[in-house]
Amino acid sequence: KKYVYLFREGKASMRDLLGGKGANLAEMTNIGLPVPSGFTITTEACNEYYTTGGQFPEGLWDQIKPALGNVEESTGKTFGNPEDPLLVSVRSGAKFSMPGMMDTILNLGLNDQTVRGLAHSTQNDRFAYDSYRRFIQMFGNVVLEIEHHFFEAILDEAKSKQAVTYDSELSTDSLKWVVEEYKKLIQKETGKPFPQEPIQQLEQAVLAVFRSWNNDRAIVYRKINAIPDDIGTAVNVQSMVFGNMGNDSGTGVAFTRSPSTGEKALFGEYLMNAQGEDVVAGIRTPQPIKSLEQENKAIYDQFVDIASRLENHYRDMQDIEFTIEKGRLFFLQTRNGKRTAPAAIRVAVELCHEGLITKEEAITRIEPGQLDQLLHRRMDANAKLEVLAKGLPASPGAASGKIVFDADDAERLGHNGEKVILLRTETTPDDIHGILAAQGILTSRGGMTSHAAVVARHMGKPAVCGCEALKIDYTEHNVSINGVVYPEGTELSIDGATGRVIKGAVPMIDPELSEEFKELLTWADEIRKLRVLANADNPKDAQKARDFGAQGIGLCRTEHMFMDPARIPIVQEMILSQTLEERELALSKLLPMQEDDFYGILKAMTGLPVIIRLLDPPLHEFLPNVEDLVVEITKMKVTGANPEELKEKEALLRKVRALAELNPMLGHRGCRLGVTFPEIYAMQARAIFQASARLVKEGFEIHPEVMIPLVIHVKELEMLRKLTEDTAQAVMKEQGVSFKYKVGTMIEVPRAALTADEIGKVADFFSFGTNDLTQTTLGFSRDDAEGKFLPAYLDKKVLAQNPFAVLDRDGVGKLMKMGVKLGREVNPELEVGICGEHGGEPSSIEFCHLLGLNYVSCSPFRVPLARLAAAQAKV
Ligand code: ADP
Ligand code: MG
Ligand code: MG
Repeated sequence: KKYVYLFREGKASMRDLLGGKGANLAEMTNIGLPVPSGFTITTEACNEYYTTGGQFPEGLWDQIKPALGNVEESTGKTFGNPEDPLLVSVRSGAKFSMPGMMDTILNLGLNDQTVRGLAHSTQNDRFAYDSYRRFIQMFGNVVLEIEHHFFEAILDEAKSKQAVTYDSELSTDSLKWVVEEYKKLIQKETGKPFPQEPIQQLEQAVLAVFRSWNNDRAIVYRKINAIPDDIGTAVNVQSMVFGNMGNDSGTGVAFTRSPSTGEKALFGEYLMNAQGEDVVAGIRTPQPIKSLEQENKAIYDQFVDIASRLENHYRDMQDIEFTIEKGRLFFLQTRNGKRTAPAAIRVAVELCHEGLITKEEAITRIEPGQLDQLLHRRMDANAKLEVLAKGLPASPGAASGKIVFDADDAERLGHNGEKVILLRTETTPDDIHGILAAQGILTSRGGMTSHAAVVARHMGKPAVCGCEALKIDYTEHNVSINGVVYPEGTELSIDGATGRVIKGAVPMIDPELSEEFKELLTWADEIRKLRVLANADNPKDAQKARDFGAQGIGLCRTEHMFMDPARIPIVQEMILSQTLEERELALSKLLPMQEDDFYGILKAMTGLPVIIRLLDPPLHEFLPNVEDLVVEITKMKVTGANPEELKEKEALLRKVRALAELNPMLGHRGCRLGVTFPEIYAMQARAIFQASARLVKEGFEIHPEVMIPLVIHVKELEMLRKLTEDTAQAVMKEQGVSFKYKVGTMIEVPRAALTADEIGKVADFFSFGTNDLTQTTLGFSRDDAEGKFLPAYLDKKVLAQNPFAVLDRDGVGKLMKMGVKLGREVNPELEVGICGEHGGEPSSIEFCHLLGLNYVSCSPFRVPLARLAAAQAKV
């Protein structure tokens, strides 16, 4: 089996095998960019390592040797040569980029001998020992699993001995001392000397990279980002180029456009006389890429030129790692840059305008799940703010919360529902759980491409980085800003769009859709087949939905109108009525109220369909709770209340008890109410049609549709359809107007789907109520499942996803498919849609598209997402 590919043997499309980093190194090599030579060990080798329980894959060495020989040839250096050694980096790189989650080792091949050769051949002692100490540190940490802080302590000691602040200021002698101390540390911690044999170093490093696929933070990262656990990482072995050779050398990271806003302008940073991770790790706050133009115009121009070539080649915004070795530029990595949702939208729209991608491609460039970010609230620009300090605007959005200084604290408080801001000098991949739990991230060091900034942008969390006015005291758990001390738990706010750090919580305002987003959505509208409606119960939500582009209302729940505190007594009066006359009297009081509700909604939706569902929940939901009543009656008895009142209360209790159900979800609800109390549905239908008549008279174009819930049998629908039609006829006659309307049903129990060929004959439309359909198909209630056993089902992978969040295609989906087919066979005009929460979830929307539904209906805030997801389903 071929486990090893030279860079020139690969290409960008081989990500599965070579990982993203390896595939792109190959691609860059083949389009002629300056990439240090090297080779990639495949993800299959990693998987082999895991299936054999941690063995070095058989035959792998025999392939590594000639590949290494090839690198030696192209560099003119030999691995392990004491005079002029070849040094390599050993870099992880999976199919999906997981920045900083796995491990990389630089300067491999150094030992006590080769370090002297390196010093001699480069005429640069300081550089050689700086490289060696970095290598021992990375190797010690990654391969030998010695904790980072042991090394840091030694480095700090060297710095304080020499009385300097930065690593780059350490003298050769200090560095030699550090090397010796590091080696002692390794002997002490592992009981063995630091391995001097380069081949052995390489073997151990490759194994360590394989292992790093399964380190804790990589596992967490995969879980958060839904990356499969079994695809493994590739390993890239690449000859080193050095950014730490002096002040004509350096290293940096740059994006071809802003990953924060999407603006078309080089966005990045670099550090002179530094290596690899220094920029990302926030060791020193780096220089903005623009200053490179002053520092070295030739290199800057070359960089700009190649960066734009890369962007054109990949037709997407690139995130590029580069190193300058003695005035020569090298490219070490390129990938499609991670970005915030606003940036994703702006970049996609502008790339399309620039003619690099089509509208269809632009649509697919947006991850619908990310769009939630756009609906984040923003800081009110008019609010008075007490700005304490300013840092770099690293990730947009605003956040307020109590400050904490540790990822574990952030996680603990976050899980208790507290809002926290994680405040650190810099973050590392080990802080990922704390970042996840925090509202926002604030660091005192590190730039726009530091770990904290990258991760925050990807998660859509606000972040302010490199805010140097903050002096954090980890032992005292406080931060001082311009001389004022703020203890842990102080409430601060950050504005990731401007970099401001603000005292206290700040007022937030609702989001708006950006111009680019609106444009992108109009492209989505041109492409998609599914219509997008919204679930809304009042004129305000209806208007919001319309503003977001909803093409009507797919579910208007009437019970919310019954819950209104002003109406509850009348609703109860209706429920408690002993006779039909009494009930009709109560209903006649509700009628004008319901009529006004429908009037408002139909008016807000002029020209668009409004699907109104008749009463659905069991009646006892509108009555007081049994325990409360018992307590009240007992009190009345004890205090000797008026016997008439007591009697009334007792009657109420009897009624409440009589209505109580063992299993309300499967009880007396939905159209069961319409069958037993037709007068309730008749009142609702009348309210709908009287509102319609009023609007028609006022000149509005309206499209009311009446939806009967929870139907199990065609006879229910026949009966209730007739009642609705009779009511409509009566109202039209009384009012002397005519209007069109439809009558349809929800499909939310298996029997309805199974007999859709019967039900379809009397329905104008079907709407899959997939919340209930999922419950009734799976036979368990959502509330119980999510609290009790569903987590175990997901952990044990019995179910791949929560079926209440992502539509269960194999089970519930099969019923839907049958329902659509049977229904349309008997009624080709039948309109079919979905109104469960799944209607706003991208994968479920795709499934609805595949089933050939006419529409999805979701909450107003998810309408933009649904428009996009519906278009993506089509592309
Ligand atoms: P990550 O996936 O965490 O970014 P990388 O493998 O990209 O890890 O490497 C970490 C850092 O080391 C990057 O800044 C990269 O540019 C640098 N680096 C990797 N290989 C080399 C090399 N051969 N020469 C110089 N720098 C390198
Ligand atoms: Mg990298
Ligand atoms: Mg339902």
